[in-house]
Amino acid sequence: MNNFFDKLHEECGIVGIYSKTYQHLGPLIYDALISLQHRGQESAGIAVYHEGVMMHYKNMGLVRDVFNEENLRPFNGNVGIGHCRYSTIGSAERRNAQPLVVEFKAGTMALAHNGNLINAVQIRGELIDEGFSFTSTSDSEIIIKLIAIHYKGNPLEAIKKALAQVEGGYALVLIVEGKLYGIRDPYGLRPLVLGQTKKGDYILASETVALDLLEATFIRDVDKGEIIEIDDSGYHSHYFDTTKPMNLCGFEFVYFSRPDSDLAGKNVYQVRVELGKILARGDKEKYDLVAAVPESGVPAAIGYAIESDTVYSSVFIKNKYIGRTFTDPTQEGRERMLRLKLSILKSNIQGKRIVIVDDSIVRGTTLRSIIFELKKAGAKEVHVRISSPPVGFSCFFGIDTPSKKSLIAANMSVEEIEEYIGADSLRFLTSDEFVEGVGLPEDSLCKACFSGEYPMKVPKTHNKYVFEKY
Ligand code: 5GP
Ligand code: MG
Repeated sequence: MNNFFDKLHEECGIVGIYSKTYQHLGPLIYDALISLQHRGQESAGIAVYHEGVMMHYKNMGLVRDVFNEENLRPFNGNVGIGHCRYSTIGSAERRNAQPLVVEFKAGTMALAHNGNLINAVQIRGELIDEGFSFTSTSDSEIIIKLIAIHYKGNPLEAIKKALAQVEGGYALVLIVEGKLYGIRDPYGLRPLVLGQTKKGDYILASETVALDLLEATFIRDVDKGEIIEIDDSGYHSHYFDTTKPMNLCGFEFVYFSRPDSDLAGKNVYQVRVELGKILARGDKEKYDLVAAVPESGVPAAIGYAIESDTVYSSVFIKNKYIGRTFTDPTQEGRERMLRLKLSILKSNIQGKRIVIVDDSIVRGTTLRSIIFELKKAGAKEVHVRISSPPVGFSCFFGIDTPSKKSLIAANMSVEEIEEYIGADSLRFLTSDEFVEGVGLPEDSLCKACFSGEYPMKVPKTHNKYVFEKY
């Protein structure tokens, strides 16, 4: 059973398309997944349905490596979903790739899931005790099993009954009986948007970038606790839980979403620029130049430069052919990856007093190595500004923050972090400044990774298992 605990943290991108007409949906879903690739690089999959037949394919790897013209060719139909996934190291297994496709009483059903259920272990254990078996260790399989169990002829009722049992942060796209469903958890922790193409096809996606890519217009965010049901007559809204307050994940604004997406009516790039401006307002001192830790720190560094009237300059050249560095299991491995990923433009920094802006500090690995390299290359002073509050608490709802043990802000004060990373000064945003920069009502954002105030009661133990591998 412990094995199962490794698989709890999943960062994912999801998409669904509903068309009244039979068409070659494969390439459309492929394109949408490419635009959501930043949400998960470990596996990718597509399922397309037409008149009782579900085509699906999934494998480990980037979307562009998993799919090609040839294997996309059979993906014809009128409704389809896609998924890209990143999870913790231990669970890099093909059997956990999505969409999940199962046969049940009413034919074939497919599900793609972004997020994390906090009572997955308990429900899974109960179902196993009752004699059910599972083929994956992903908590998404629990949802699909529950829907199948509760199905008595009406898919919507079955979905509602299943969702009443699960707790956590999730966005789902689901194909049942030829209809497409888009669902957001009762707190709206994970994002999901609805749009429509010029031809009239409906699109559900984790982020608006997928709508832009498919030249679809944005209709609206799927609401918290809402089930959007799409069929030939259009889209229909149903609610399964209206009792919880909105708690959109604040970390989507900090790091996770693409800057060209809009979340809850806010453009993510503009929010990040604003966060940088607020950082600058807190500095009386002037520095020679401001630079970003690429790519995640760029918009906030630009905001800092505008507000403080400081020259914005590139200090790092990023090697485009190296992937994300976050997943390397060892500290030495992560440091080496960082050197491979970023090289320093020495001529720009020698003798200079620099401000470096990044979006967040998680373990402190990135900045510690960066500052070491900057000083070695001749920087006179390195001042660090972070466009979010310190991350002192693990996420239980679908962002891959490590256990508290590895979170530097859980174990050190700001002064101690400053010393550890070797910065001449270090400042984070306060929670209030962060909320001001995002521009949404404070109580509509989940800030649990900064404050430890979780929107729901979270288990004490699961992180211990989830992140021991780090
Ligand atoms: P650290 O080196 O402090 O552990 O990580 C901080 C860096 O990781 C920041 O530059 C930030 O952009 C990036 N980061 C923050 N959250 C995540 C995440 O959930 N996944 C990945 N891959 N990177 C992240
Ligand atoms: Mg970064």
